[in-house]
Amino acid sequence: MQITYEQFRANFSVVMDHIEDACGKANRSASEVTLLPVTKNHPADAAVYAWRAACKSVGENRVQEALGKMGDADPCLQWELIGPLQSNKAKRVAESFSRVQTVDRAKIAKALDRYAREAGRTLRVLMQVNAGRDPAKSGVELEEADALLDVILSCESLSLEGLMTIAPLSEQSDVARRTFANLRECRDRLSLRSGLPLSELSMGMSGDLEEAILEGSTMVRVGTALFGERTY
Ligand SMILES: *Cc1c(COP(=O)(O)O)cnc(C)c1O
Repeated sequence: MQITYEQFRANFSVVMDHIEDACGKANRSASEVTLLPVTKNHPADAAVYAWRAACKSVGENRVQEALGKMGDADPCLQWELIGPLQSNKAKRVAESFSRVQTVDRAKIAKALDRYAREAGRTLRVLMQVNAGRDPAKSGVELEEADALLDVILSCESLSLEGLMTIAPLSEQSDVARRTFANLRECRDRLSLRSGLPLSELSMGMSGDLEEAILEGSTMVRVGTALFGERTY
């Protein structure tokens, strides 16, 4: 681990203050926003630190990397997949992760549904939407979200809790803000269509969490600001 637990706690306070400030600006209660520490590219210690700081879950990008760390952390820590998923890994994911934030196509939804059913569980998922219309980002296109919603709702072993997005890389905060507003509007539409609250809006990272909170984020995914630059 590059940083000590004490350094992590100092970073953690800074991030929590930042979240509280943004909630103040947005006229929201800080209790409405959950911090998801992103431990990718950091050793298993990062997940242990997050658990000691009373975080219930951590985010990981790569399936193999996360599976390798799970045994080193508290068994009650929950693991959320926030990176792209190939269907050949869907079985392991449906068995081991507590939630998948990156359901972005019908094929993945159906594979996760099948393996969750075989494992005798209901898998919590978010739909990943390319709300910034960024050719470099994954996620279902805004125009195709309604069709994917119908597929996910037909999957009896999946429980759809909300939406997730990654803003395009940009120096301009209004690009991020527009992306996050798009995700919220998309959620409102899908919520009407389905009659479900779809209350989770996973949006905002180290560099744009304020914009995300101003647009209604309920979960910010933060790596660098907590753990420093990635170590491998
Ligand atoms: C890496 C990653 C994050 C965290 O990014 P930071 O800029 O390090 O806070 C959040 N979400 C996703 C999907 C990521 O891949």
